[in-house]
Amino acid sequence: MIVTVEIDGGVAVVTIDHPPVNALSQALRQALIETAEALDADPAVEAVVLICAGRTFIAGADLGEFGKPTLAPHLPDVIARIEGARLPWVAAIHGSALGGGLEVALGCHYRIAMPGAKLGLPEVNLGLIPGAGGTVRLPRLIGFEAAVDMVTSGKPVGAGKANALGLVDLLVDGADLRQAAIAFARDIATKPLPPLSRDRVAASPSEAFWKEQAQELGRRYRGQEAPVRALASLRNAAETDFESAMRHERATFLALRDSAEATALRHVFLAERAAPRPQSLEGVRPLPIRKTAVIGGGTMGTGIAAALLDAGLPVVLIERDQAALDHGLATLRNLYRTNVERGRLTESEAEARLAQLDGSTDYDVLSDVDLAIEAVFEKLDVKRAVFTKLQAACRKDAILATNTSYLDPAAIAKGLERPERFLGLHFFSPANVMKLLEIVPTRATSADVLATAFALARQLGKVPVQAGICDGFIGNRILKRYRAGAEALLLEGVSIEAVDAAMRSFGFAMGPFEAQDLGGLDIAFLQREAARANGQAIAETLCDRLVRAGRKGRKTGAGWYDYPDGSSKPQVSSTVGEILALPAGSRNAISHHQIAARLLDAMAEEGRAILEEQIAGSAADIDLVLIHGYGFPRWRGGPMHYAETNGGKGS
Ligand code: NAD
Repeated sequence: MIVTVEIDGGVAVVTIDHPPVNALSQALRQALIETAEALDADPAVEAVVLICAGRTFIAGADLGEFGKPTLAPHLPDVIARIEGARLPWVAAIHGSALGGGLEVALGCHYRIAMPGAKLGLPEVNLGLIPGAGGTVRLPRLIGFEAAVDMVTSGKPVGAGKANALGLVDLLVDGADLRQAAIAFARDIATKPLPPLSRDRVAASPSEAFWKEQAQELGRRYRGQEAPVRALASLRNAAETDFESAMRHERATFLALRDSAEATALRHVFLAERAAPRPQSLEGVRPLPIRKTAVIGGGTMGTGIAAALLDAGLPVVLIERDQAALDHGLATLRNLYRTNVERGRLTESEAEARLAQLDGSTDYDVLSDVDLAIEAVFEKLDVKRAVFTKLQAACRKDAILATNTSYLDPAAIAKGLERPERFLGLHFFSPANVMKLLEIVPTRATSADVLATAFALARQLGKVPVQAGICDGFIGNRILKRYRAGAEALLLEGVSIEAVDAAMRSFGFAMGPFEAQDLGGLDIAFLQREAARANGQAIAETLCDRLVRAGRKGRKTGAGWYDYPDGSSKPQVSSTVGEILALPAGSRNAISHHQIAARLLDAMAEEGRAILEEQIAGSAADIDLVLIHGYGFPRWRGGPMHYAETNGGKGS
């Protein structure tokens, strides 16, 4: 039974038990509407409590119905039946009341919540707007300003804030939600029903408010439809009657369900859910990770250490000498100080994390670590020397990992006594922020070590993607192709700024050239030079020529663009065209759309090669890599999804 009813002294307790998250499936909607009818006809009942079993209130829509035609009874009808009941309904909320779950709670006459509960309408994150009264009932309860914020950001609010906003009538003090709800229901049973949503009035904000919001959303979600349509639905709700507003909202919801944006966001959402639990590892138990080490306290090492500390794992940072160690530890302390200053952490949270950090130049302190992640210079001999020391210092069953970007992990592991305990864990900069983790096993890596890497990713809140071994793994290999495509356009006479603008208008925060200027042109250059020194035939790129001319990006005041007087704003350079002998201006007629199409096709083509070579397990994995590691716009679904839904063409 998904829904059960118990009568407790005149209060009907309706319990939803529909694991794992009490999602609003067709069966649940049916059961709820039948229950509402039966209770209305029961003279012994004076009030109703709606409560959920398990870890959460109704957490949203049923994934099984995602993207499919909606089935009756439809959610707006279920909610209308509850709201129109003869008896007062009290939603008793714990865990999350999200999307349709919050809309059901809004249809109830009262809402009470546990202090840790979260309430939200996250539909815009899936390219949708609420479809069962969210944009109509919520503002009538909490006012338009607060409702606009909740609906257009998609961010849930905590129960305390919900209480302050008037969304929650009572914060439950104590652990027993059910008892508190029954007591509350008894109390209100004797009172008249509060006004229904249709009878509540919320004043429309000023014209200036709506204009400002529309501009802000246009800026923040450039190119995306859902947030703007959510705002339009709210505005309509402010300016028409309840029924028309409900009809308008539902029509928008149904129209958006099949939009390219909703399809893309659904694809990414489902891929993210699948990523941390690959089927190949089903039944394989991860090993416990209680203590970790990071070798190298530079850009990546400190970021990785912070990611581990943030997940509650103790870290020992190892550096090659005391000065470098002091520098690495100071970087971490500064990072946490900034987090406190920006209000991301409290002083005591930051202190607790730093208390888990230790540092040493001596590998002997590593005898009790379960995992050591190496992030030293990108040089095979330096890395191999580090692993020889790690092998001697760590327990036999410790996992040893490399953060190499381009070296072959199997070559790094060569000669290790226990290669089955070794793998690549490729983090992205800044490693405590970027969600992507490429997990790169060698042929020798054992299944439990691989399973541990996936479990670690979950613990760190990362999106893990398994990658095979090739130059650049998945992400950097596609990046290389993307950059080569962008340089090819320049040689055809397209301007640097046109390429960047085209990719920005597609949805990237930055185009390929301005992004390179920010990161530094010398990183990829040095990597190519090292490969050339190793005898690989790598053609000279335009980027190489700029670096040889001393233009390494923003940090040198000049790269693809000029940055005079320490400015961070790219300015078109008058000399780059000459340095690179570009055929300037001959293709200025090419549209942004065509430029983006060329580069997206290049990415997808490289992606297909990566799939054929089984470097990636699925096209969705490639999409996750580009979205979470390289700024590919999430709402476009990733390069593979985009190519597929655009008929294999980037256009
Ligand atoms: P970095 O130069 O900022 O830091 C390297 C650190 O390693 C330095 O602090 C150095 O003192 C230390 N070190 C060198 N030899 C050592 C040794 N024998 N023992 C202990 N410490 C030693 O470099 P980085 O950018 O942090 O890169 C580190 C690794 O991460 C490289 O393999 C790189 O390819 C990879 N990586 C870098 C990025 C990035 O964006 N920077 C992204 C992913 C992966």
